[in-house]
Amino acid sequence: MKKKRIGLYPGSFDPVTNGHLDIIFRAHKLVDELVIGVAKNQKKENLFSMEKRKKLILHEINKSKYNKKSFKVVIFDGLLMNFAKSINANLIVRGLRAVSDFDYEFQMTGMNARLNSEIETVFLMASEKHQFISSRFVKEIYFLKGEVKSFIPKNVLIELKKIKN
Ligand code: ADP
Repeated sequence: MKKKRIGLYPGSFDPVTNGHLDIIFRAHKLVDELVIGVAKNQKKENLFSMEKRKKLILHEINKSKYNKKSFKVVIFDGLLMNFAKSINANLIVRGLRAVSDFDYEFQMTGMNARLNSEIETVFLMASEKHQFISSRFVKEIYFLKGEVKSFIPKNVLIELKKIKN
């Protein structure tokens, strides 16, 4: 039997945006199973709990037309490459929005390749429509009372509205 190809798409997803979802469903075409790794990041200021972030991603996957069994959403802590190895990932998927993402991603990919040269990192370009979406700006705009509904799924907006500001 052919070995299952496992992809890992890591990120903070605080919260998941239409940009992330675009990458999730496009990356899914490249592998047999896509693991969305929700990273605990001590440095970043978090808005949603890990569980809530996971739940919001799962909700969108369940709503989609794709086979739910070929996705997993997993919370992880610690070094990305250790996590990737523990789930037998063949490749890591990252999204690229603008030139500004490139420098950081380039360095990280280089370091990760040194840590484990068996796992490739592939980049998917943000689609034109979603290029400027980031979780950070969604939060900023929302709390400044701007309109964010075109950047995030409906369910995320409902959760944002529950947060007092
Ligand atoms: P953010 O920078 O929005 O907080 P994450 O840390 O959750 O996002 O990012 C996870 C991955 O998804 C990164 O590779 C990031 O470049 C990518 N990504 C985030 N938003 C988009 C988007 N709108 N289009 C394409 N890729 C994106």
